Amino acid sequence: MVSLAGSLAALLLLAVFARTRHAPRSRRFAWLGMVLVGCALGSFAMAPFLEARPVVERLGFGILAAATGLGHACAFNLVPLPHRRTRLRMWLVPLGMWAGGAGSFAILTQHQHPWADIVAFAMALPVLAAWACLPLLAKRPSHVQLGERPVPALRFACPRCGTVVDWGRGVWPCTDCGLFLKLDMPAHPASASNQLDDPAGVVRLECPDCGAPRLAGRGRSDCAKCQASLSLHWNMHR
Ligand SMILES: [Zn+2]
Ligand SMILES: [Zn+2]
Repeated sequence: MVSLAGSLAALLLLAVFARTRHAPRSRRFAWLGMVLVGCALGSFAMAPFLEARPVVERLGFGILAAATGLGHACAFNLVPLPHRRTRLRMWLVPLGMWAGGAGSFAILTQHQHPWADIVAFAMALPVLAAWACLPLLAKRPSHVQLGERPVPALRFACPRCGTVVDWGRGVWPCTDCGLFLKLDMPAHPASASNQLDDPAGVVRLECPDCGAPRLAGRGRSDCAKCQASLSLHWNMHR
């Protein structure tokens, strides 16, 4: 029963890592997390057949706590945050990993150090609060502020770092890696049609007019459903 609960949690984490592993910002953590989850699943699978079952199960949960911290980091690296709140990421991501590490330590040492429990709990609280507030934080704005002026926004993942950003019409920097991107809706008359095998990548977005999902690389693209055009331009510096 205990192993089953652990395995279910591990599968949930695996889904988080599978989703976030494509974004350059989360790739390393996601792979490391998948290795940890694999180890935890191995422990839960073997535990019922071993005499030292409680120890092996505890080992699995200890590993799982560390992997949970990594899962939080992978997800919070990429979730869209309001433009004025992107600094939240700078302390929420490490805080989650420390909470995972402290939780792991507490579990593995059988809660013999009450201070470790308290530290893990104290660090987990703001992390849980951030998840509770996520629907509010990640709410899709219709407009973003360009100085004093609101301009229509379009949400898609940054082609360089993978963080989901609300880009305004015009020239915008990525909130997290600073990549500058120029967005025109409708397309700029001088822009060439875009190529989906562009080495700089393509972005997945929802058509600003009809909401249909579409792909766009650098240059002009038209919506297959409503023919609304847009153009994107960015320069990839690695
Ligand atoms: Zn970026
Ligand atoms: Zn459309």
